[in-house]
Amino acid sequence: MSQPRIDEDEARSLARALVADLPPARTPVRDFLAAQFDRGLAWINHPPGHGGLGADVRLQAAVNHVIKEAGGPDAFEINPIGHGMCAPTLVVWGTEEQKRRHLRPLFTGEEIWCQLFSEPGAGSDVAGLAARARRDGAEWVADGQKVWTTMAHRSSWGLLIARTDPDAVKHQGLTAFLLDMSAPGVEVRPLYQLTGEAEFNEVFLDGVRIPDAARLGRVGDGWKVVLTTLMNERVSIGGVIPPRGSGPIARLVERYRELARTDPATARLHTGAVADLWVRAEVLRLANIRLSQLRTGDTPGPEGSISKIIAADLNKDVYSELVTLMGAEGLLYESYDKVRPVLAMEYSTPQKAFLRSRANSIEGGTSEVMKNVLAERVLGLPGDPRADKDVPWRDIPRS
Ligand SMILES: Cc1cc2nc3c(=O)[nH]c(=O)nc-3n(C[C@H](O)[C@H](O)[C@H](O)COP(=O)(O)OP(=O)(O)OC[C@H]3O[C@@H](n4cnc5c(N)ncnc54)[C@H](O)[C@@H]3O)c2cc1C
Repeated sequence: MSQPRIDEDEARSLARALVADLPPARTPVRDFLAAQFDRGLAWINHPPGHGGLGADVRLQAAVNHVIKEAGGPDAFEINPIGHGMCAPTLVVWGTEEQKRRHLRPLFTGEEIWCQLFSEPGAGSDVAGLAARARRDGAEWVADGQKVWTTMAHRSSWGLLIARTDPDAVKHQGLTAFLLDMSAPGVEVRPLYQLTGEAEFNEVFLDGVRIPDAARLGRVGDGWKVVLTTLMNERVSIGGVIPPRGSGPIARLVERYRELARTDPATARLHTGAVADLWVRAEVLRLANIRLSQLRTGDTPGPEGSISKIIAADLNKDVYSELVTLMGAEGLLYESYDKVRPVLAMEYSTPQKAFLRSRANSIEGGTSEVMKNVLAERVLGLPGDPRADKDVPWRDIPRS
């Protein structure tokens, strides 16, 4: 894609004009996000008309910064799976019609999206998935079960990967679809997590009819679509560039300061640990800035796995230290009422954030799998043994 010569100053002034014309404090969230999309400031690298200006992807950070400073809404928080994973996949693989239909309501949060990849027998090895889609004239008929589907209970659309050719080797017999979550035969059931919330779900597909026009990419190209999504997912989870000292580390430092006032002797015992975590948070932030500057194409590379691993461990350690500083209060839990959250990743209390952080090294690919990706794709080390690589999926033993 040829990129217009917009520099960082111009990107900033476009964002300033947006917040001046639609002051966030007086503008309904959806109206603001619709205007952000229409002015090409949603995903600045997307083509004009699809939420972007066809500009350098690295300029988005400058736009986001201006909007955040002005108190504007964050489209990612409203629709994290849609914004971070489905939209970048749609823009690479979608037809013009699919992009026109889906990107705007996805960005404004009118239509929430989920990612229907994992299954009970296929998580790390997602290419081994068993949900089937069979061709029937101008439609496909899907059957099977997905699991751990974040926000499926609020989603209008899902990015579905299904097996369309069981005779092909496992990576080749897959096809991607845009699934209307209100279609007959789609059933969503809650899965309650350690936090007491059901942020994710099981999704059952029973004879669900999907028009061929909702196929994403060519038949058999599902694995390539999956890779686009996963590369974006890793950066979307681990590659965040917050202002220095903000986010979880700010919560920890604030708590430490409070303890230093009320119980300086105990606080002193924790000074080294808190400083160490602050340094780690800052190193990750700087590394993410560097990674984002190195990025040129629309899809991030395997380096995104570095941030994903580091962010997972850091987040766990920060919240662990935070509840430790809280002493006995850290053991109190606000409520164990079973909740179906409206927003994913809403960590109201440190205790909830501590429990939720345990999932960071699993969601979006486990830390062990990220290490395999880094070993093979970045360091060029020999690959994991893959005995089923050349075997038709139908013949691979399954439990
Ligand atoms: C909070 C949360 C939200 C999620 N949201 C979604 C979602 O929206 N959509 C979706 O599709 N999925 C989602 N997932 C699923 C997630 O992608 C999977 O849980 C993850 O990929 C691991 O798969 P698994 O749970 O089947 O574990 P398994 O693959 O069974 O792994 C079990 C253990 O074996 C290790 N392991 C597996 N293979 C290897 C290997 N080759 N080398 C070394 N170690 C290995 C793993 O690291 C892990 O410790 C979510 C998960 C969580 C926790």
